[in-house]
Amino acid sequence: MREAVLQDTVFQEREDSIITKGKQKKQLKCDTDSVAGCVSQRACVYCGARVVLNPVTDAIHLVHGPIGCASYTWDIRGSLSSGSDLYRNSFSTDLKEQDVIFGGEKKLARAIDELVEKHPAKVVFVYATCIVGVIGDDLEAVCKAAADKHQIEVIPVQSSGFAGNKSAGYRAACDALLRLIQRDNAKVAQKKNTLNYLGDFNLAGEVWIIKNYLKEIGVNVNVAFTGDSKYQALKNATHASVNIIQCAGSMIYMAERMKELYKIPYFNISFLGLQDTTASLRKIAVFFGDEDMMSQVEKLVQRETVRVEPELEWYRQRLQGKKAAIYVGGGFKAISLVKQFREIGIDVVMIGTQTGRKEEYETINDLVDDGTIILDDANPTELEKFMVDKGAHLLVGGVKERPLAYKLGVAFIDHNHDRKHPLSGFVGAVNLAKEVYTTLCSPVWKYV
Ligand code: SF4
Repeated sequence: MREAVLQDTVFQEREDSIITKGKQKKQLKCDTDSVAGCVSQRACVYCGARVVLNPVTDAIHLVHGPIGCASYTWDIRGSLSSGSDLYRNSFSTDLKEQDVIFGGEKKLARAIDELVEKHPAKVVFVYATCIVGVIGDDLEAVCKAAADKHQIEVIPVQSSGFAGNKSAGYRAACDALLRLIQRDNAKVAQKKNTLNYLGDFNLAGEVWIIKNYLKEIGVNVNVAFTGDSKYQALKNATHASVNIIQCAGSMIYMAERMKELYKIPYFNISFLGLQDTTASLRKIAVFFGDEDMMSQVEKLVQRETVRVEPELEWYRQRLQGKKAAIYVGGGFKAISLVKQFREIGIDVVMIGTQTGRKEEYETINDLVDDGTIILDDANPTELEKFMVDKGAHLLVGGVKERPLAYKLGVAFIDHNHDRKHPLSGFVGAVNLAKEVYTTLCSPVWKYV
């Protein structure tokens, strides 16, 4: 039966990217380029870079490419700002056929001049798109000349489509951020109980929720990469004594480079769900080795658990026994979601990611029940087939997965960047349960 399903739906080249927990001993193939001919759910390299950099609120973000690439903008990302809203603009050089033939460097230089004149900013990020990789515009040279001319930082983001997959875009964005960090500041004494918070993009204000928890336990956030971040705070990133990473897929490279360059250690945390939020706060207190902080963490956890547990119990009673399929961007989110669904009585029957890493898939494999389908870099056909095969009542994904669920008459939860309510921390655990209940128990499914 299993073989028949695979034959029906999976290209031979994709077979190593899909396993059934408990049935196959093979290592899941991941972190590779997509198979040509499969309609990957992954976004492009430039999109990966944009995810990471766009939340820098006081920067000019200039997309060097055709106008279509610039449609990927703040409007489909829910990252919020406490100050500047310059980042909400999607500036583009709007490359046309003539520029493709004769080169777009002059047009890019003019666009930077015009933007800097209209919007005083200390940094411009210039994103390379696919066509820039084809025509070979020298972004480095144009950005350097513009930086000299305007005496601000103009940083190229090498995110043209041929650099790899979405993960290459994450790295391109991290390389751009590394250029921004003030190297002299590496010598500055690191502040006590201060950390950088990596891999949270302040969707629906999530960075603010976590900052409040950390403040309550006596920890300062030096800068968040990059949710609600600003030029100057990013420049001073070396003032922190540790980096904590929420979205490892996008930020592990950054953390590793900062460890190499500035001797700043790092560790992974996750503020998704009760269990992981609690464990992460404790992990931070243990790192700082501060008794007061540890007791503050216990007080906070006790207070919040007492506050949210009755609500979660209400949802648990109504959701018990339902089955969820998960297909999200990164591995850390997938791991937390398995635990979070258990907290409300839901089993995960299919789980996959766009950019999960080997060690994340190993953790997923340890967490899920036998028979769960685990797949990397899936295409719509595979997702639909395995959802039906496993009898999923709910799909968790992003904008590209939503229609797949609705076509099958299955409930859907948006856990991507265009949502408008926070899913982090204790408050987020309740929001997720509420959203799951609202969609899963909607009367609409009776009419499908
Ligand atoms: S043209 Fe290339 S860079 Fe632009 S959106 Fe499409 S894949 Fe991404």
